[in-house]
This record gives sequence, C-alpha cells and structure tokens, in this order.
Amino acid sequence: MTSTPTLTEIRQAIRNVPDFPKPGIQFKDITPVLADFRLFGACVDFLTSGHAPGSIDAVAGIDARGFIFAAAAAVRLGTGFIPIRKQGKLPYRTIEESYELEYGSATIAVHADAARPGSRVLLLDDLLATGGTAGAAVALLRRLGAEVVEAGFLIELSFLGGRRRLGGCPVRTQIVY
Ligand code: AMP
Repeated sequence: MTSTPTLTEIRQAIRNVPDFPKPGIQFKDITPVLADFRLFGACVDFLTSGHAPGSIDAVAGIDARGFIFAAAAAVRLGTGFIPIRKQGKLPYRTIEESYELEYGSATIAVHADAARPGSRVLLLDDLLATGGTAGAAVALLRRLGAEVVEAGFLIELSFLGGRRRLGGCPVRTQIVY
C-alpha cells in the first residue's frame, strides 16, 4: 500500500528555477510533482477536499498549468471543465479581462456560454503570485453570472499579497512561500 505524501514531500518536489523566464524571477516548476502519481494525486485531493460531488457545477482552470489540476479535479468531482485561456485561443464568442502579471501584462478570455448564470464554479490554478491572473478569472466568471465558490492553488507566493485581488472569494492554497 502507498502512503499519503506529506506536505514536505510535495514542497521538496517543487523545483526552483532561478531567472526564468526573466532575471529575478524564481520559477516554481511543478513538473516533478506531476511526474509522481502519489504527489499529483495528493494535490488533486487537496484542491477538491471539502467539495462534495454534486456541490460544484463546473471546475474552471487557468491557461496553462491550471488546466492540469482543474481537469483532474473536474473528473474527481463529476463536473465539466471550463478553460480560461490566453487571448486569441478560444474559437467561439468570448469575453475578456486584462491584468498585470508578476512579469508583464496579459489578457485572458472565456467562452461567453462557458458557465450558466447561478452556477457554482471552483476555480483552480497552479500558483497564486500577484493575483492578477486569478483576479481577472474571478471577474470573468462573475460576468457570466457564476458564483466562484473557491479559488484553489497548489502554491501561494504569500509575500506578493495576491489573495487581496481575488474579489473576496474564499482561497485555498497548499504550499505557501
Ligand atoms: P499572478 O497573476 O501574478 O498571480 O501570476 C500567476 C500566474 O503566473 C499563474 O498562472 C502561474 O502559473 C504564473 N506564475 C507567476 N509567477 C510564477 C512563478 N514564480 N513560478 C511559476 N509560475 C508563475
């Protein structure tokens, strides 16, 4: 029988890559976590815990690493998956939000019919930094009339204060720096 991974194991598997994609950025590389079924599974357990199947209508993931956790969480919770993508990638009619990143600025988009008004949506991404991306994602989902039940992240860079930009929705993070 395999044991449940500890937080320390998950933390140790996250690889720090200095100066990527720009000088001064410590990139948190989650690929070693994803490569290990036990660690990946424990992250999905964490991000879905507290949400009974049937209590969530959809799981939204943020382009690109958020898709990995959100797709797995959607299957776990028995819901559909909503991709929130970088501008210009979605083929149908979209709504968009622009925001500032830790490194640069960007626009994200979601299909205009991605969530039903009043639906309960769990929003997931790999990492919360300044909160610009997730804050824009919360705004997009709310513009569709959805309720963002929670925003969940594997990693939080708490020194950047990103939680404050998520429009007051509940936040869950597993590994905090
Ligand atoms: P932010 O909008 O500043 O909260 O940035 C969060 C988004 O950018 C997430 O989708 C992350 O995948 C990515 N990101 C920002 N900073 C880092 C970092 N230091 N390491 C890895 N990914 C990052």
